Formats: sequence, structure tokens, C-alpha cells
Amino acid sequence: MHPRTLPPPLVCHVLVVETDNGLVLVDTGHGTQDCDDPGRRVGPGRHLFRPSLDHDETAVRQVERLGFHRDDVRHIIATHFDADHIGGISDFPEAQIHTTAAEVSGAVRNPSFQEKIRFRSAQWEHGPKIVEHTPDGEQWRGFAAAKELTDIAPGIVLVSLPGHTRGHACIAVDAGHRWVLHCGDAFYHPGTIDGQSTVPRFIRVMEPILAFDRKRVLDNHARLSELYRRRDQDLLVVCAHDESQFEQARATAVAKA
Ligand SMILES: [Zn+2]
Repeated sequence: MHPRTLPPPLVCHVLVVETDNGLVLVDTGHGTQDCDDPGRRVGPGRHLFRPSLDHDETAVRQVERLGFHRDDVRHIIATHFDADHIGGISDFPEAQIHTTAAEVSGAVRNPSFQEKIRFRSAQWEHGPKIVEHTPDGEQWRGFAAAKELTDIAPGIVLVSLPGHTRGHACIAVDAGHRWVLHCGDAFYHPGTIDGQSTVPRFIRVMEPILAFDRKRVLDNHARLSELYRRRDQDLLVVCAHDESQFEQARATAVAKA
């Protein structure tokens, strides 16, 4: 995405995980149908965020370039239901969509007036099987409301972190040589959690505007900052839209043999 006042561009960071249960995606970014019908599927936000909407950049094309078929993707875990995170689910009609029950409530079942405008129901009108989870009880690195999605595969954990949306979650994946915590839109820029680099003005302005619950967004920043500053050697923390974190993650995605 290329907001006018924000070089460098924002990426849509998607994880693809090979499991014994097929391929699993964490988020999808925009999909091919978003490219073909952006007015209905992406909505007015596209004029601000200016996604490139290029078929070649979609998750399905990238999965195919890795040598897989779209039907190899059996499960998609969504951090939340904003258009730039689930637009690609219709490219994987065989996949089950996993998210929190609170997110389904806010986006699908019982949206408020604002949520009706925010979320783009055209993106799930193909009728995917949506599996709702209620993370509670289990712990993950100090986060109290987590749930390991063992029905998909061991080592994939849904961590409830509402704030950006009603049922936003982070997804932790055990990649073997390390864990990756995909934080979705719980933060947008490394400066928010490392306390060093400067957060661009566009992000400082947009983040509270996009928040379902501003106080919780700030609380989440504090918690993620604490986790980040612990610098656990076996943990990589990334958000959905930062290009530098994406490049760092991609360069080290597979353990060196
Ligand atoms: Zn986003």
C-alpha cells in the first residue's frame, strides 16, 4: 500500500506455514477479487491507503509460485477482518477461516454502525466455513488469553489482543528455529515497541482513528514493548504492515541447514 505521505510503502505481511495438515496462512492481504472489484470489496479506504491491487502480489499467486496449489491451503488464521487482511480468503475456497468469536461478532454477526462501514462483507459472501475460537485460560509468554490451535497443528497459538478491532488477535507460530509472533495491526511501526525509531506522522494520526478501543491499543503497545525489550533469542515479533520487519523476516524465514 502506498499512502501519499508515507514512503516507504506498507506491506501486507502474510505467513505461510507448512504443517502435517496442509498449508496454513496467517492473514491473506488483498486477493484477486479485490483487484477486480475494489470499489465493492475494498471500499473508500483504498483512496487513503492506495493498495497496488496487483494479481501478482496476491497470496494465491505467491503460493502457486512456491509450487503449491490453492487447495493445499486448508486453514487461514486471520488476525482480524479488515479488508487488507482477509481480502484473499475467497482465493482459497476450500480453506477454513479461523478467528476469535469476538471478531466474528464485530464483523459478521452483530456489527455496530461503524463496524458495518469498516468491514467489507463482500469479502466473505462466498460463504467460507468460519471457525470461531475463544482464547482464554492458556498462557503464552505472559499473555493470559491464548489458545493453541491443535486441531490445525501444534505450535500455532491464537493470542487474544483486542483493541484495533473488537476481536483482534496475534498469531504465534513455532517455525522450528524460532517463534514468529505476527501481531497484525496491534502496532504499525517498530518505533512503537522499540522506543528508538521515530513513528511516521501518518501512522501516529491513523492508528487511533482506526482503533476500536484506543485505551486497549495503548495497553497493547506497552505489553508488546515489554516483550520486545526482553529480546528473547527464539522470538521474532512482526506487525502486518512494516516493510523492514517483513524483509528481515523473509531473509531469515527458514533455518540454515
Ligand atoms: Zn491492516
